[in-house]
Amino acid sequence: MSNDIRGLPGAPALAPDTLAVRAGIERSQFNEHSEALYLTSSFVFDNAAQAAARFGDREEGNVYSRFSNPTVTALQTRLAALEGGESCIATASGMAAILSLVMAVLKAGDHIVASNGLFGSTVQLFANQLSKFAIDTTFVPATDLAAWRAAVRPSSKLFFVETPSNPLTEIVDIAAVAAIAHEAGAILAVDNCFCSPALQRPLRLGADIVIHSATKYLDGQGRVLGGAVVGTRRITGEVFRFLRNAGPALSPFNAWVILKGLETLRLRMEAQSENALRLANWLEGQPAVSRVLYPGLPSHPRHELAMRQQRRGGAVVSFEVEGGREAAWRVIDATRIISITGNLGDTKTTITHPASTTHGRITPEARAAAGITEGLLRIAAGLEAVEDIQADLARGLGG
Ligand SMILES: *Cc1c(COP(=O)(O)O)cnc(C)c1O
Repeated sequence: MSNDIRGLPGAPALAPDTLAVRAGIERSQFNEHSEALYLTSSFVFDNAAQAAARFGDREEGNVYSRFSNPTVTALQTRLAALEGGESCIATASGMAAILSLVMAVLKAGDHIVASNGLFGSTVQLFANQLSKFAIDTTFVPATDLAAWRAAVRPSSKLFFVETPSNPLTEIVDIAAVAAIAHEAGAILAVDNCFCSPALQRPLRLGADIVIHSATKYLDGQGRVLGGAVVGTRRITGEVFRFLRNAGPALSPFNAWVILKGLETLRLRMEAQSENALRLANWLEGQPAVSRVLYPGLPSHPRHELAMRQQRRGGAVVSFEVEGGREAAWRVIDATRIISITGNLGDTKTTITHPASTTHGRITPEARAAAGITEGLLRIAAGLEAVEDIQADLARGLGG
């Protein structure tokens, strides 16, 4: 096998745009130009001694695709390079990444401090599943640093944040929360799904771990599920040991699709952020819209912090319409182009009503406390012409 970056041992010093298309390529004896897809569940050995050495970890090499696969390894190498991390472990989904991390670094009696604007399944996992194994979680208001400090216990081992948050686009100060975590002897994991490494690199800001749902912007075309844990070899080594025994490994096919997605990641994130900014500006001028939440807008309460830790505002825009649920549903039902779906991260623009979908199962009181009002809508801007998306929304806004 030969590496694509010829004789350049300092590959991580290359610019992200170069790494996004070249990092991780190991050519086979056929010298293929593009990344090969190795659809095989297991690997053969030259002889019995080699089999024994591979199983005994005395020789590096592939054994079985639950442990490692060359296509998955290529993705891991590329994603680690893009995030600026030592090492990456790819997983079957974003939730598999989060589960693998907590199983790797926590034990019964340990405590998690997490921001309260997390992805719904992450909240369920922490609050309802991990609690069965005596791992408690305290959820704190994402932007209240005093609350993060007050939540610390001697058993706090993991801090977990998502920024910007979904759907309210709250911005967590990664460097400040990292400092609180480290003072408490804990590690900080950042779910970087909304920004991707094209816009935000949490490890540079002091985070210890980056989590990805590769299902979203890393693939970017809504085709496959995938996830990743990026960080120091010490931590990813533990994650690998869990994955190897528990099994939520990424399929080589999905890894190959996500590798292709990474090649256009920055271009997509720039273009989708630009479309989101233009939509957000336009929405601010609509009489039926009472509030627009977008980190790229100067009116966002944490605009300055967002622009310090992210290169762009990202693709997700939330806004509130006058007239509650009825008015919000009218906007959705009047669209002809935008996909009505809770998913995001795609080249196709999507719209959702959080109060009746992604946040529909929590009590109305909890929703109100979290700021998810009945008039709130969330859009994830895609790559369509922004004029067409505006016209699609204008119909239901009475514009
Ligand atoms: C979708 C999502 C996840 C979960 O990822 P899956 O690939 O669906 O398992 C985790 N975090 C965030 C922020 C997400 O949007």
